Amino acid sequence: MNRATARRTVPGARVPDGWVRLTVPTVPDGMRHTSWRRTLNAVHPGQSGVDALPGHWLNPGDDVTLPASTLLLTADKTATGTAVDTRTRRPYTTEDAHLTVALVTPGGALTTLWTRHYARAASAFGQQVINRAGTLLTAHPSPGAPPVVLVEAQRPNRRAAPCRHNCGADVAPGGGHLVGAGRDAEVEHWPDCTTPAAPPVPRQRRTCDNCDGPGRGHEATDSSGIHGRVCARCAREPSYALSFA
Ligand SMILES: [Zn+2]
Ligand SMILES: [Zn+2]
Repeated sequence: MNRATARRTVPGARVPDGWVRLTVPTVPDGMRHTSWRRTLNAVHPGQSGVDALPGHWLNPGDDVTLPASTLLLTADKTATGTAVDTRTRRPYTTEDAHLTVALVTPGGALTTLWTRHYARAASAFGQQVINRAGTLLTAHPSPGAPPVVLVEAQRPNRRAAPCRHNCGADVAPGGGHLVGAGRDAEVEHWPDCTTPAAPPVPRQRRTCDNCDGPGRGHEATDSSGIHGRVCARCAREPSYALSFA
């Protein structure tokens, strides 16, 4: 069972007439925090990566409102090993992807239309997915309207970082909220800058910092010098093959 997640209501957000309310599917236990959810709005076959499938990012566990008949594209990932980036020479964790396209029903439920497993997560934006998305969008044209977030689920920051607001204070690991994704991610106080959550509530992880699999009984340092806890299998890997970020 998932640990109860802290949530906060977005002031002033409401459900427009004719729209439905739903909770964005959470990431299943054991899957990586790099798993993602997007609306599927259009197909641009000439583009690559995320630009080929324009849509809006959705955060797992948020309550959002959307027009019915919106399509959602979901990628749930697990770690499959490690590899070294040929350009930067930095090691990284390789991932697979379980891809799902689901339709938002008028009742606010999700009906799965298509699902597929890819051994490499990069295939989630590959030609096969682009073709399939085009077919599904023909049958279920996108309403196109961006989703509105009604209730946010906390996405705890793993590392200490300065708050993105004007308060000027650092946010302790696990005490704040991540906004955005990847290199553009920022951290802010949770639930807000004036009443931040008590910092010594470290995120209770039960899985390995490297592979997200079960077990974290061993201390290790990753290729960036970050300290963490890993499973027995990852503990046998050299530090240059570990990545905790
Ligand atoms: Zn702040
Ligand atoms: Zn591991």
